[in-house]
Amino acid sequence: MGLTFEVGASSPGGGRRGSLDLAHGVVETPVFMPVGTAATVKTVQQDTLEQIGRSGAGAEIILANTYHLYLRPGHELIRRMGGVHRFMSWSRPMLTDSGGFQVFSLAKLRKVTGDGVEFRSHLDGSKHFFSPEHSMEVQIALGADIMMVFDECVETPASWERTSQSMGLTHAWAARSKQYFEAHKNETPWMGELDGRTQSLFGIVQGGMYADLRRESAERLVEMDFGGYAIGGLAVGEPREVTREMGVDMMDCVLPTRAARHGLLFRAAEPGEADGGAVRMNIKRLEYAEDQRPVDAACGCMVCRRYTRAYLRHLFMAREPLGATLNSIHNLAFYLDIMERVRGELAGFRC
Ligand SMILES: [Zn+2]
Repeated sequence: MGLTFEVGASSPGGGRRGSLDLAHGVVETPVFMPVGTAATVKTVQQDTLEQIGRSGAGAEIILANTYHLYLRPGHELIRRMGGVHRFMSWSRPMLTDSGGFQVFSLAKLRKVTGDGVEFRSHLDGSKHFFSPEHSMEVQIALGADIMMVFDECVETPASWERTSQSMGLTHAWAARSKQYFEAHKNETPWMGELDGRTQSLFGIVQGGMYADLRRESAERLVEMDFGGYAIGGLAVGEPREVTREMGVDMMDCVLPTRAARHGLLFRAAEPGEADGGAVRMNIKRLEYAEDQRPVDAACGCMVCRRYTRAYLRHLFMAREPLGATLNSIHNLAFYLDIMERVRGELAGFRC
């Protein structure tokens, strides 16, 4: 069995609260997934990830990138190490992407054919070929609870014709991904250890900014019957109002950790400030040099409970690695706490 998903409550605005039961545990949705590109959420160790946030519940699910792990250290090595869970010592749920987005955004000299994509590694220029079948093979070796079909990521903006043609290719690749997955899903490195549980495969809805194509893509993929559905080609530069039309149960972003490494911290606005939303603080500013307050008095994360803005600024200015770690922990806590509050609000609605 792959996954089961139960909706516990829905709001009139379209939000919903759910419970996603995966091979490595249950994830309460809506959920934010920290990104662990190379089998590490940069600068934050696994022990900490398990306790981050005000409630101490930590990250329930993290994401890893197929493209990066395939290039380094290689999926065969990870298979021999028992899969990415055992390799990085993470026993909670994980998701891997298909590698498609990185192939189309990071890799050089791409050549797309009906069969797949030929590309050169951004690390050493070596030549590689990804097909839907190969992406599945790599993701099965990694062994994440949720894996993604291999899709083509169309450039934005793209014409209706170009988007429609690319979507057709994505659907053909989705069918091939599913076929390979069904034939090989018993080859996951941890197979047999988790009460007969298997990985789950998600389809990816494409269609760019065209509502008719999006609808058609969603219908095609639902006919193919996947464990879940991702929205591809979203948040890639389109107007924010367009992004906001979509409702999701799971989301990921590198922003909290990447911003943290650049000294940007998020905190709740204080009364009368920024309409009650979030405020972005640049910790290197001189005004924080002797500021004895925590980053966010309302946060309560392990960083805000212990350290001052003055200390975080000093670490950043002195380029001490601990600075990136503490900043990342706070920003992740900020995101995870927002989602916890959203789940709390949604719990008030009945199905
Ligand atoms: Zn904090």
